[in-house]
Amino acid sequence: MATLFKDVLILDGSRIKAERVHMLVSKGRISQIINVNENPPSADKIISGHGKMAVIPGFVNAHTHAAMVLLRGLGEESPLMEWLQTKIWPVEEKLTPDYIYWGTLSAILEMLSTGTTCFADMYFEMERVGEAVLGAGIRAALSRGITAGEPGKIEKSLQNNLDLAQKFHGREGLITVQIGPHAPYTVPVDKMKLITDAAKSHGLGIHFHFLETEGELKNLGMSPEKYLDETGLNSVPYLTLAHAVYLDPSTDLNPDNVTLIHNPNSNLKLGSGVMNLNAWLERDFPVALGTDGASSNNRLDMWEEMRTTALLHKGINKNPVCVSAQEVLRMSTYEGAKAYGFSQKGMLQEGWVADLILVNLDKPHYIGVNEENLGTYLVYAGSSADVAGTMVNGKWLYKNGEFPTLDKEEILLKSREAREAITK
Ligand SMILES: [Zn+2]
Repeated sequence: MATLFKDVLILDGSRIKAERVHMLVSKGRISQIINVNENPPSADKIISGHGKMAVIPGFVNAHTHAAMVLLRGLGEESPLMEWLQTKIWPVEEKLTPDYIYWGTLSAILEMLSTGTTCFADMYFEMERVGEAVLGAGIRAALSRGITAGEPGKIEKSLQNNLDLAQKFHGREGLITVQIGPHAPYTVPVDKMKLITDAAKSHGLGIHFHFLETEGELKNLGMSPEKYLDETGLNSVPYLTLAHAVYLDPSTDLNPDNVTLIHNPNSNLKLGSGVMNLNAWLERDFPVALGTDGASSNNRLDMWEEMRTTALLHKGINKNPVCVSAQEVLRMSTYEGAKAYGFSQKGMLQEGWVADLILVNLDKPHYIGVNEENLGTYLVYAGSSADVAGTMVNGKWLYKNGEFPTLDKEEILLKSREAREAITK
């Protein structure tokens, strides 16, 4: 089935300005983009934009813990370690595979309705997360969060992560799997080596929390460069480092296989600090955006991350031209997809995969929008309330407030039950 987006503005992180076009989607891909003055091709379904609709690539939430929506609001306004140790970890002990399944689906509802088409998830019971992802038809990069505990726990979790890869990596073109050692403070160095060796021998990437807080840098026991070298993280097939707030932008890192994940709202809310994004971008280093879990953000809304990112760094650097709208659009789409091994996703180009958002510009806050300024309108004036539809692989997963592949009422009911059970 072919869908024609007739007379729409398209924009992605590679375009300085938007273009007014007809865009055809068929067999899950963008098959044709032609100038609006040409005759539109025929299609089974036609979305008439009348120049008042925009299409942008779907957002890639490059670091989250989806099922933590069930823990939202717990232990508000406390420091990271206290929050984890006294509020989060004890409640997580009560999470069952079923609760994680329903919590993940609830997060997927939230993400689809705000334009996210792919998310990078680090948690546990990831087989159930994989089932939720395939059932919804959304795209995801999955890793099993690995932490130390009783003897043999790390080895067991690593095996569990490798089994996850065996079962889900590449499934239906929707899923990639990474190994997910949690952080330097939850996995000792010798065990990190075990994990990076496994990543290398299985050709898998690693998704890791790194230097979120100042204390973490102090307790590392060596320089970040030495740590990445000694643990073997520097030489795994690819690496995503979430947070990197205290990673110096002069650090010797390979931009061809490392991506930093900026989570500004979570870092602000936990009082962790702010990554030196401007310096990384000046170095042309790849950086993607993520929300982190809903219990530290508290939203899974990439529009919020884009706006915060663009504003925060201008303020800190006292520089209104740094971290442009175009850069944050690229960080929230293409960079995240590339970081997790998804090719031909995150831009609107002929032959690329149709993961996209339909944005309604027929609203008061878009008066004055045109090809030149669409990017800044979206980032500074826009919000997730403007999302009219979210498409993954050429299929609508969210349209006019409905979720064609999901039973919203059942998901909300089961998620409420899970929340009650874990907080009893
Ligand atoms: Zn995280």
